[in-house]
Amino acid sequence: MKVVLDHLTKKFPNRDKKGSDVIAVNDFDFEIPDGKLIGLLGPSGCGKSTTLNLICGLESPSSGKIWFGEDDVTKLPPEARGVGMVFQNYALYPHLTVRKNIMFPLQNLKGADKLSKEEMEQRVLKAAQLVQIEKLLDRKPSEMSGGQQQRVAIARALVKTPRVLLLDEPLSNLDARLRLQTREEISRIQKETGVTTIFVTHDQEEAMSISDMIVVMKDGILQQIGKPQDVYDDPQNLFVAKFLGTPPINVFEGSIRDGRIHIGDEDLLQISGIPDQKVWVGIRPEGFVLAENGHLSCQLERVEVMGRDTSVVAKHPNLAGETIRAIIPAENKVDTSKSVVKFNVKVPKVFLFNYETEERIYYKVEM
Ligand code: ADP
Ligand code: MG
Repeated sequence: MKVVLDHLTKKFPNRDKKGSDVIAVNDFDFEIPDGKLIGLLGPSGCGKSTTLNLICGLESPSSGKIWFGEDDVTKLPPEARGVGMVFQNYALYPHLTVRKNIMFPLQNLKGADKLSKEEMEQRVLKAAQLVQIEKLLDRKPSEMSGGQQQRVAIARALVKTPRVLLLDEPLSNLDARLRLQTREEISRIQKETGVTTIFVTHDQEEAMSISDMIVVMKDGILQQIGKPQDVYDDPQNLFVAKFLGTPPINVFEGSIRDGRIHIGDEDLLQISGIPDQKVWVGIRPEGFVLAENGHLSCQLERVEVMGRDTSVVAKHPNLAGETIRAIIPAENKVDTSKSVVKFNVKVPKVFLFNYETEERIYYKVEM
């Protein structure tokens, strides 16, 4: 089921009277393709949960519409939308068995949708098999691990065969190892069911690893939408560039002077068509190349060898953060007896941003 957000806006009145409204979701206008897994990604407070609540009908928009395929669902109550929702705290009923927990949404079905006891049992079993907890149906939630409880919550959301599955930070209560495992499970379940799934997280790695498409947002405003790798390779502004990637992009204060990118007095690249101005220069960790006569001189802090790669930690006076992290292949040896390490850069890994607006500046390299 395709989901279309049509100029969707949600304002909350500011409680302290003085301030203006909080625009939690500001004119969202995009399409979520049928049968895909979409990651809604952004820092805490950027409007992710509000977006999900609008889609499932727990909140109503201030303006704009929501379409499921050709159906306008904007005014439909949650139970009529055909959505399954999983919250951060799985919110299982502690006094009910796993079986009863999963069955719960089926018991209130009325009229033509009403199911017999046998049909309900079958649906529960199918959902439980999908998340691989069919052996645990007679347990109570307190007798299960966090990861297993989250699977029960997912089974409960799937048991009505929803048109859209919504997951709000479903992994944040799990420990690191379980998070990894459970996110792969979610990806598998999504592929097996083919249900259009919207997955909310503030963790860029989580979103990048399993999403067909990511939607990056900040302060209720859509920043960029696309395949994870495309957004990483072609960020449209400094926020997106900084939000994606571990280790993060290295950002320098720089300038364009006479058709050359400068960082301080160092001349990084010759480019064409960009007038003189102050800029932010972003260099991905994998964009550095060790070179004896490199254009960028940094003070070497330390070298961390991590199997395949070496991480070079260094400092530079024009760096906007604390330290530079450059990732280079392990066979390239850094001379640690020296206090200076010099780099050249790989052009596709160097991004320029307007110093004030932080919007991307696209440039061409002069050969
Ligand atoms: P996220 O899930 O990305 O952390 P939310 O969607 O929960 O963000 O919140 C987005 C913004 O809307 C925040 O500034 C938050 O304080 C505000 N907000 C959310 N729900 C309400 C509400 N019921 N009343 C007032 N403000 C709210
Ligand atoms: Mg939230």
